[in-house]
Parts: sequence; structure tokens; C-alpha cells
Amino acid sequence: MNEKRVAIVTGASRGIGRAIAERLARDGRHVVGVARSIDGLAGVGEAIAAAGGSFEPRACDIGDTKAFGELVEAVAEQHGRLDILVNNAGITKDGLMLRMSDEDFDLVIQTNLKSTFVACRVAGRHMMRGRFGRICNLSSVSGINGNAGQANYAASKAGVIGLTKSIAKELGSKGVTANVVAPGFIDTDMTAALPQGVKDAAMATIPVRKFGNVADIAAAVAYCTSDEGGFLTGHVLVVDGGMTM
Ligand code: NAP
Repeated sequence: MNEKRVAIVTGASRGIGRAIAERLARDGRHVVGVARSIDGLAGVGEAIAAAGGSFEPRACDIGDTKAFGELVEAVAEQHGRLDILVNNAGITKDGLMLRMSDEDFDLVIQTNLKSTFVACRVAGRHMMRGRFGRICNLSSVSGINGNAGQANYAASKAGVIGLTKSIAKELGSKGVTANVVAPGFIDTDMTAALPQGVKDAAMATIPVRKFGNVADIAAAVAYCTSDEGGFLTGHVLVVDGGMTM
């Protein structure tokens, strides 16, 4: 059995997920980072190793929920424990609802929501057995307020909130907590792709007058998944510079 707490972090190759992986490794976790290719995880692996942390790369397309569930199972079996699950990987396929194809709707729900459900189901069983678990699922302010052009994404992220609260109620008595971190506008590849006009409009709605950085989100996830966080469950921690208040 691994002596460290074992944490799975999806989307660990870049952006918010990479920052979460680095932060949890710094906090002494053995981090299993997931992305679609092993090559994409090389950089984060090197950074964590250089800082003296413990990291293991795993390639998986989480939209293939069967393969992803098997990966979570294999990690728990291999290490004899699974303490922390961070469902961070997510995609967008933006477009106005009236023109949105079934394919674009289904792909986003499958990748952002169904994968989260499947991973929680597998992880939850192992965590219950160990009488300890910390699940942290990434939502978005779009999942709270809705967002024009993101019907599929907002539905998936609202779904993540309902899913997580239900898990919190089902597993709370077994030592397993489940929380959501809902980022506002964070500087990553995902937001870099947006037109300048959209970024300017977003900035005008943020009281602290800046976009967040990936470390802001990693810090929130670190708290939700910490040993000290045992009295926090079913919570939606909105980290958005005050945008949605
Ligand atoms: P990002 O920069 O686009 O990175 C996405 C990560 O997910 C990458 O590591 C990517 O890895 C991985 N990924 C994507 N599709 C995958 C798949 N099918 N299977 C496995 N891995 C996959 O995203 P981000 O901005 O860091 O966002 C992270 C999370 O925060 C997402 O859930 C997003 O919805 C949420 N969020 C972000 C913001 C924001 O402002 N950035 C705001 C609110 C919520 P590979 O490409 O290497 O596979």
C-alpha cells in the first residue's frame, strides 16, 4: 500500500489541472495525472519530480467512460487505496442553442458530466472501504448562472453540482466528502481562445478587476481535498473574484 494519500487529477497536462496536480504533490500526495496522451503529461511530471514530489502519468480519454472507470479501479487496486479524486478535465463546444447539434451536446455531457459520475462511482466504493475520501469536481460559473452560447457546457456543469451534492449526501456518513469548485474567468488555454470582446465584457463584471490564475483554483481544491476539510461537504466553492455574487 502506498504510504502517501493517493490522488487522481484529470486534465493534469495543462491549465487548472496541472496547477492542481503540482499543488497536491507539494502537499505530499502521490498524484496520478490523467490526460489524453502520456507525452502531454511529461512537463508536469518533470516539474513535480524537480520539486521532490510524486507523480504518475496515465493516458485516457475520459469521454470513454468505460476505460476511465477501469483506470480509476486500476489505480485504487495498484496502490491499495484511493483517497482523493479531482474531476477537472473538461471541454467546451460552444454555439447558440438553436443551432447546437445533438453531437456537440452529447460530447460535452459525456466528457464533463458522465465521466465525473463514473469516476465517482468507482472511487466512492474504494473510499467507503477506507473510511476516508475527498471528491472535488470542477464546475463553472456558467453552470450556476447559465451562459449564452454554452447550453451544453452550462448543463454539464450544473449537472456536476447536482451530482456532487447527491454524492455528499450518500457518502457523508462513510468519511467521504464531495465538493465542487466553480471557477470564474481564469487565464488558461480555454479562455485564451475567446474573442477579445468577450474577455472585455467579462472583466467589466468582476469586482476585483482581474482574471483569476490557476493557483487560485488549485488552492481551493487543496482545501476541499485536505484532511482538515472533513466538515466541508456538498459545498460549491465559487472562486470568481466576486463575478456571480
Ligand atoms: P484547458 O486549459 O482546456 O485544459 C483541459 C485539460 O483537460 C487538459 O489537461 C486536457 O488534456 C484535458 N482533457 C480535455 N479533454 C480530455 C479528455 N477527453 N480526456 C482526458 N483529458 C482531457 O482547461 P482549463 O481552463 O484548465 O479548465 C479546467 C476545468 O476548469 C474544466 O473542467 C473547465 O470547464 C473548468 N473551468 C475553467 C474555467 C476557465 O476560466 N479556464 C472557468 C470555469 C471552469 P489533453 O488535451 O492533454 O488531453
